[in-house]
Amino acid sequence: MPRPGSMATPRIGDEIVVAGQFVHTGTRVVLWMDPGGYDAYRVERRFSPLERADWEHSHQDEKELTSPNRYNMRRNGLSAEEIERIRGGGWDLPTLQRVVDQFVIHFDACGTSRECFKVLQDYRDLSVHFMLDLDGTIYQTLDLKERAWHATTSNSRSVGIEIANMGAYAPGEKNPLNNWYVKDASGRTRITVPPEQRDGGIRTGNFVGRPARVEPVRGTIQGQELVQYDFIPEQYQALTKLTAALCKSFPRIKCDYPRDAAGKLVRQKLPDAELNAYQGVLGHYHIQTNKVDPGPAFQWDRVIGEARKLLHGGMSDMADQTSKGHLHTGR
Ligand SMILES: [Zn+2]
Repeated sequence: MPRPGSMATPRIGDEIVVAGQFVHTGTRVVLWMDPGGYDAYRVERRFSPLERADWEHSHQDEKELTSPNRYNMRRNGLSAEEIERIRGGGWDLPTLQRVVDQFVIHFDACGTSRECFKVLQDYRDLSVHFMLDLDGTIYQTLDLKERAWHATTSNSRSVGIEIANMGAYAPGEKNPLNNWYVKDASGRTRITVPPEQRDGGIRTGNFVGRPARVEPVRGTIQGQELVQYDFIPEQYQALTKLTAALCKSFPRIKCDYPRDAAGKLVRQKLPDAELNAYQGVLGHYHIQTNKVDPGPAFQWDRVIGEARKLLHGGMSDMADQTSKGHLHTGR
C-alpha cells in the first residue's frame, strides 16, 4: 500500500481526462487544473478586472452571459436512474462511451486559444472541451463527461475542439487575414499575432507558425465560395493524435468524416436524418447551415488518414493491451 501523503505517479503531460481517467494522446496537453490552463468549470470571467470577475458583476457587464455555468450535464440516452447517478458527477467510462459518438471540429476565428477562451468564457455562454493553439498545444477545459456548449443539436453527443485559425471569408469580403499572414523574405508565409493580442499567449517561446500551404486556399462550403489560410503542421500533428486517442476511447466515434455516395467529403450541412445517424468526426458546418468551420482549407484526409495509421499501426501495442480491457466494454 502507498504511504499516506506519498505522491501518485506523475503525469507526463500528454493526458486528456475522460470521465476522471487519464488517457494518453502522445502530444502535449495542458489541462484546466494545470498552470497556464483554461478552466471552464469556473463561474468567474477569466480576463476581466478581478473585482468584477464574479458572476453578479459579470452578468451585469456582459448581457450575453445569462448563466454562471457555460456547460451542463449530458443526459441523452440515459435512464432516469442513470441521470440520478451522474448528476452528482458519478460517470463511468462505459456509460460515457455509450452516449458520445461525434467529434466536432471548429476553427475559432480568434486566432489564438487564449483569445478563444476569452470570448467563450468572458463574453458568450459557450464552452468547448479542447482548444488547439498555433504551436500545437492542446488545452482541455472540461472533462469529456460534461456537455459543452459548442455545436447546438450535437452538444449532448459530442466532444468539441476549437482550432486557432482566423477563419474563412467570401472573396472580396472584408477580412483580417492581412493582419495575420505575411510573406517573409524567403517567400514563405508566416503568422504574425497582431499587437492587441501581445504574445498571443503561445506556450512555445518565439514560435513561428507557418500555414501548411503558402497561399490562401479557395473552396466551397454550404454552396458558398470561401478563402482561408491553411492550418499549421504542428496543429495537424496534434489533432491527428487527439483524433486517434478519441476514436480509441470512444468506439462509437468512427475514424471517418461525412462522405457522399462517391466517397467524397460532404461540403454542406447533413440532412437531419443523416446527421442523426452519423457517428464519427465532422465539421461544425455539417451540423448548422449558418456555420462554415473548419473551412475549405481543412485537410480531412490528412487528419483521418494519419489517425487511422496510428490506430491500426503505431497504436497496435495499446490496442493489444486494451482489447480485452475496460476501454471496449462500451461497445
Ligand atoms: Zn464552430
